Amino acid sequence: MSDNSDTTTTAAARKTRKRQTGAVTSTPEPPVLQNALELFQSETETEAPESLHTVRVGEDSRFVVPFTLSLSTVDVHYVDYPSDEANGSTGLRGYIRCNDEACVLCHIGVKKTLRHLLPVYDIEEGSVGVLGFTDNVRPKSLRAQLIPALKRVDADDPPFLLEISRSGKSDFQVEQHELPAEAKNGADAITNFIGRLKRGEVSIDSTIETVSNDSLAAIPNVERILSTKGGVS
Ligand SMILES: [Zn+2]
Repeated sequence: MSDNSDTTTTAAARKTRKRQTGAVTSTPEPPVLQNALELFQSETETEAPESLHTVRVGEDSRFVVPFTLSLSTVDVHYVDYPSDEANGSTGLRGYIRCNDEACVLCHIGVKKTLRHLLPVYDIEEGSVGVLGFTDNVRPKSLRAQLIPALKRVDADDPPFLLEISRSGKSDFQVEQHELPAEAKNGADAITNFIGRLKRGEVSIDSTIETVSNDSLAAIPNVERILSTKGGVS
């Protein structure tokens, strides 16, 4: 008796499921038609702004033309995690944007610093790039040595050249050179950049890589600390 009722219940349940499934397939959602122009226009507008290249300063001189005082400042972490093929990690090295609240790198005590991002015209690349520097104000720091140049920009001096190099980890050399009258000073590229920046077509901040908390937590070195210390609460 009880077997029968069980069978009935099961059959009824199966029937209900079948009906439900049938209901979904037999009355499909009507297709949503979109206005082509509105769609394409909004896609253009929401396109991610183009990223600029980073002007990397090492022992070899880099030549740039400063043209603006407007810089962007972001919270960053410097990381250097080796690749770990056995654990499927390709490694991660460089400045990574802080993920603010619940940031995995903050949680495991990776030092957070400020990074200033100044657009400059990069002679070698022939385009505007981003010169990144720390908040360090020591006399040999890039920040301290850029101030005289930025004052000239502020005074609307004619374009001039900066020769920048680095020795050791954070000792910079910054020299100013006058540009010959006929020298290429990137005026067209600079005007073009300012226009694109105003229209949101280019982003200064995106020169700093953003890595999601999930991806950070999956890096073996990070994962080992998290599994001992506990995750972000
Ligand atoms: Zn952080």
